[in-house]
Amino acid sequence: MTEPKITLATAWLDGCSGCHMSFLDLDERLIALADRIELVYSPLVDAKTLPETVDLGILEGAISSEEDLEKARLFRARCRLLVSLGDCAVTGNVPAMRNAFRVEAVLDRAYRENVTCNPQIPSLGVPALRCPVKPIHHEVSVDVFVPGCPPSADTIWYVLSELIAGRMPEPARVTRFGA
Ligand code: SF4
Repeated sequence: MTEPKITLATAWLDGCSGCHMSFLDLDERLIALADRIELVYSPLVDAKTLPETVDLGILEGAISSEEDLEKARLFRARCRLLVSLGDCAVTGNVPAMRNAFRVEAVLDRAYRENVTCNPQIPSLGVPALRCPVKPIHHEVSVDVFVPGCPPSADTIWYVLSELIAGRMPEPARVTRFGA
């Protein structure tokens, strides 16, 4: 009898998408994974509504905006297990570099000082920035931390394989910050 598939949801908050690219670097192992996992919500698939209950949630990136916070809370509420994937999610990493500056100064730098054509700070269609930028576990509880920038495909494979087998992975055995 075939085992039921584990439902998986992924999202990126304030990240560069590199952690998701590393997931895609699983290459042919994605085919094996498809036998055990159903990707129900992700930037990698068309499904754009997070189901009410999900077995496993993976978040890339730090919490930098109100939209990031809302998504992290939604994932925590609906996912049985939540994974922080990559250094930005685990420590704040690159997005948190702006914590040394005021939000107004960051916006000025990005939208006025470095722009020659119609410099202005956007007010529509962009989520409000939060200060400070935080790692995910500073706002919601996280079950598995996977450091790396990005974590390698081998690391992601190890973590998913352990979780599929019903074991808690020990990512520190196979990856480290900045790896
Ligand atoms: S951890 Fe590295 S690869 Fe992943 S989102 Fe952050 S900067 Fe990108």
